[in-house]
Parts: sequence; structure tokens; C-alpha cells
Amino acid sequence: MRRPGSRFGGRLEPFSHVDLQLYAGRSLDIVTQAELVTSFAPVRADFALSACGSAMVEAADHLAQEDERSNRLFLLLLEGLRTLALSPATPSAVLDGYLFRLASVAGYHPHLDACAACGAPGPHDVFTIAAGGALCPDDAPFDAHPLDPAVTGLLRRLLGGPLSDQRDAPEDPRVRRAAAALVASYLTYHLGRPLRALELVER
Ligand SMILES: [Zn+2]
Repeated sequence: MRRPGSRFGGRLEPFSHVDLQLYAGRSLDIVTQAELVTSFAPVRADFALSACGSAMVEAADHLAQEDERSNRLFLLLLEGLRTLALSPATPSAVLDGYLFRLASVAGYHPHLDACAACGAPGPHDVFTIAAGGALCPDDAPFDAHPLDPAVTGLLRRLLGGPLSDQRDAPEDPRVRRAAAALVASYLTYHLGRPLRALELVER
């Protein structure tokens, strides 16, 4: 983004939260004024944090509709970047919470308790990505694998809590990896393509 001599170079860095004034050009809008709100410089300065930040921005960009306001998406992205800027011990857990909540904001709310097909109260131990969550014994495919209750518990915390709760995730790394893989598959399935930036995220 930054070009030497660019009028707004220092303010238009990746991850920067800026207040822009745009002039509607013929094909592209032209920036006429830029106020820096928050630079999120710590996210830019650290490889692990910027990998997670890139995945957050990529997912939000993929879901945002041009010329359509989405306050929930915007606020979730701000919360994600703010939490990363606090240099969490496990940035990838913050990212997982963000991605799982983002799926919900985008209309693909993962059902973790009641059956995603018939609404029967849970907990149910089968989770299928295509159905959008947990399935009761009547609706579960016969060959479905039950989910480890520890993984379901972590998914519930990822979806329900503020992102700052994921900062120092004390979870068993095996449980965290299983939950991360499920969140990534869930998003890939519902967004229709994998997030490129996820390849850079260390688990
Ligand atoms: Zn059911």
C-alpha cells in the first residue's frame, strides 16, 4: 500500500483503522483525506500476529458486500485486531474465535447445542459442517464421527466469549488443533474457498 512520496503513505498501512474521505471516481474511488484512528502497529510488527491479522482481514473482505454497511462485521474485525494488538500468548486461538463468530455474523451460525436439523435440545455429540452444527441421533448420518466433548466445549467458548478470553487459551494443544481444523473447514465450506492467509498461521 505504501508508496514513497504518497500523501497518505504512513496512514494507509495494512491493518490501520482509518477515517477516509473519498471522491467517487469513474472506476475507483480516490482518497482525498485520511485520518488515522488506530494503527495496530504491534500487529504489523510481529509475524505470528500479522499472519492472524491477515486471515482476519481476508475473511472479512471476502464476506463484506461492496457498498453495503455491516456494523457487526466491522466491530468484530476491530475486536479481533485490538485483541491481537495486546500480543496474546496464543494468537491463533484469538483468530479461531474470530472466524467462528464471523461465520455466525455472515449467516452461517454454528449450532452447538440444539440439533441443527430439527432443533431437538442437546448436547449432541455429532457435528457436521454441511448441516451447520450438531445433529441429534435421528438426524445424524449413520457414519458420522462423534466429536470429542473437550473439542465441543472449546468450540462453545470460541463462539460465545469475547475474543480477549482466547488470549491465553490453556487448552490441551491437541484439542486446540482439532477445534482449529474444524473452524477452518467450517469457514472454507460456507465461504466456498479456503483462506490463503491461514497457511501462514502457526498452530
Ligand atoms: Zn434432529
